[in-house]
Amino acid sequence: MLYLVATPIGNLEDISLRAIRTLQEADIVACEDTRHARVLFERHGIRPRRLVSYHSHNERSRAAELADDLRTGATVAVITDAGTPGISDPAWAIVREAIALGVEVVPVPGACAAIAALSASGMDTTRFAFEGFLPLKKGRRRRLEQIAAEDRTVVIYESPHRIKRLLEELLTLCGPERQASLAREITKLHEAFERGTLKEISGRLEERFPEAVKGECVVVLAAREPEPGLR
Ligand code: SAM
Repeated sequence: MLYLVATPIGNLEDISLRAIRTLQEADIVACEDTRHARVLFERHGIRPRRLVSYHSHNERSRAAELADDLRTGATVAVITDAGTPGISDPAWAIVREAIALGVEVVPVPGACAAIAALSASGMDTTRFAFEGFLPLKKGRRRRLEQIAAEDRTVVIYESPHRIKRLLEELLTLCGPERQASLAREITKLHEAFERGTLKEISGRLEERFPEAVKGECVVVLAAREPEPGLR
């Protein structure tokens, strides 16, 4: 059995009782960064039976090894550095392996930065598109154009040192009046939400640079306004 266990995205209290029990009882816990995981384990008194690392540099080889363990009947719990495994992180590879093997894949839900940012954004949440990280070079412009034309709310992950550039690109393609919400450091000490037009948000970041662009970010962008007469 493969458990996908959601862990906190900042505040270590954001973990379910079921997640703690699953991590304690699994034969193997696979995590992205063992030092990072140990902080969580210490906070909740979790003593995993066996801890292995599973990250973007060894995901294919480690996924194959974990698949062997799953084949022999082991219970494997996967966690990542933050949030829900498989959402913009290396856990997807082991999920595919497990499904191909006919192994049961069980989510243990919890925090997810995209959903936390969306829920507090003030944008229309009835329909939304998750874009994750945009490509850095090839295909980036095309993806940005698709996002600008999207008729659902769009959720984008971005790293702090590229957030200014992303907001500038969105401003150029979507226009200065498009509404957005920039969520930073959700559930952490310096949690902040910047809401308003792209022009206002960019202006505020400019004023408070570099403090305003520190920490992990999620951009929630309002849908394109329908052309007059189309609604
Ligand atoms: N699996 C994770 C989830 O469920 O949200 C996402 C992992 S992805 C590698 C990391 C990205 O998630 C960051 O670059 C940032 O965009 C977003 N993120 C994670 N934690 C966050 C937080 N506390 N505040 C804002 N964004 C966060």
